[in-house]
Amino acid sequence: MGILEVKGVNKRFGGLQALGDVNLSVAENTVHAIIGPNGAGKSTLLNVLVGKLIPDSGSVMFDGNSVLGRQPYEINQMGISRVFQTPEIFADLSVIENVMIPCFAKRDGAFRMHAIESVGNEKNIREQAEAMLDDVNMLDKRNMIASVMSRGDKRRLEMAMCLVQEPRLLLLDEPTAGMARADTNNTIDLLKEIKEKRDITMAIIEHDMHVVFSLADRITVLAQGTPLVEDTPEKIKGHPKVKEAYLGE
Ligand code: ADP
Ligand code: MG
Repeated sequence: MGILEVKGVNKRFGGLQALGDVNLSVAENTVHAIIGPNGAGKSTLLNVLVGKLIPDSGSVMFDGNSVLGRQPYEINQMGISRVFQTPEIFADLSVIENVMIPCFAKRDGAFRMHAIESVGNEKNIREQAEAMLDDVNMLDKRNMIASVMSRGDKRRLEMAMCLVQEPRLLLLDEPTAGMARADTNNTIDLLKEIKEKRDITMAIIEHDMHVVFSLADRITVLAQGTPLVEDTPEKIKGHPKVKEAYLGE
């Protein structure tokens, strides 16, 4: 049993079958990549996992509990966090403030209540945020305003904002999209470091095969909403179906 078990998931948008009978099992403490051509259904699948979309049928179990029908914040509390394609940070706030905000929200997900509770407790929150920044090698940038940072550092900051909530499953939707090579490699290193330092499972959607092959333990290839093959990177590289459907050979 994987920490994440997707079974028979279907999702239609009008006449379009975006997901057709998707089965996916993600083993705990692994990096599982989901690849496939544009329109394959990758983002739709991710949206189902985080509760932004409800599938027409099928089941999604996280650590033995059903995810379906829960609100995104509830799923987040269950231990699933998502990193967006474009970093979602508070541009006008400092780096440390950006990390303190999800600390306030962490304990019970009810941001408002916890924020009230946290008044007078800011020192503790700041210490947590600093420890997190140290962990992603950003402590020296804690007082910088987020908007002036490089794309790679914004990604690093967003990762810190996610990790400070101590997720068990991190979902990444094209984390290196639009990045220059240096920032892409930086992100690969960061994800490897994160993986080494803590027990965490990652499901990553990615177009860049260099990223996929650098990080993934398992790869699922989606094509037209349905998993085509699931295997190790070595096997996927040489798979004739994958070459045909995805690499266009
Ligand atoms: P990918 O992320 O693999 O590129 P998507 O999951 O975004 O693919 O999309 C899968 C298919 O579903 C595409 O054909 C897309 O146009 C369609 N689609 C995605 N979201 C919606 C939506 N909200 N309404 C209608 N069609 C959608
Ligand atoms: Mg997409």
